[in-house]
Amino acid sequence: MIKYENLRKQVLDAILEAVEQGLITGTSGNIALRDDNEDIVAITPSGIPYKGMTVEDIAIIDLHGKWLDGNYKPSSEWPMHTAVLRARPDIKATVHTHAMFATIMAMGDHTELRPITPPQCEFTPVRIVPFTMPGSDEVAEKVAKAIGEDGRAVLIKNHGMFCCGKNMKAAMAATEYTEEMAVTTFYSKLLGTYEPMPEEAEKAMKALIAADQAV
Ligand SMILES: [Zn+2]
Repeated sequence: MIKYENLRKQVLDAILEAVEQGLITGTSGNIALRDDNEDIVAITPSGIPYKGMTVEDIAIIDLHGKWLDGNYKPSSEWPMHTAVLRARPDIKATVHTHAMFATIMAMGDHTELRPITPPQCEFTPVRIVPFTMPGSDEVAEKVAKAIGEDGRAVLIKNHGMFCCGKNMKAAMAATEYTEEMAVTTFYSKLLGTYEPMPEEAEKAMKALIAADQAV
């Protein structure tokens, strides 16, 4: 019997989906999912190609990164994932990718991404954290702080993005919409037509989305 098979399968399916969607290049990017009942986390392994990966290749760690099971050691970015999972009991799934437009929009002197379309409002503001070495406790701390009490997505300068949600579907949606926000911001700035949604409309949209999700 494979331990935490369902948890691992969800991580495997999500990483393959992210590769399929072009959100991940090579072995960059990593995904984690916390068990509903135990302080156990399934996370993609370090440096292994995702295509052809099996459920047993997905690592099992505790909330402090201790490697408990799996054919390969956990992603070196485990500090970032576990820092957010420890800080936010409402969050179960975390996704880190180097998606192209999110990475482009993490550069420059702006401090956050603003919504261009209504569905993006669920994930704003997307704050931008300064570069720190990948896999370090420092980057983990900065990402967890920027995500804060209700954040869903942040960009990391010269690195990529980090998104989260109450389950894998929600964390993947945060990833896809953050990349969409980066794409629409990039092109509208390039055209000189950049005009994010007014803050009032963003607030109203957030309230609508929250009410809809509470049903
Ligand atoms: Zn990375």
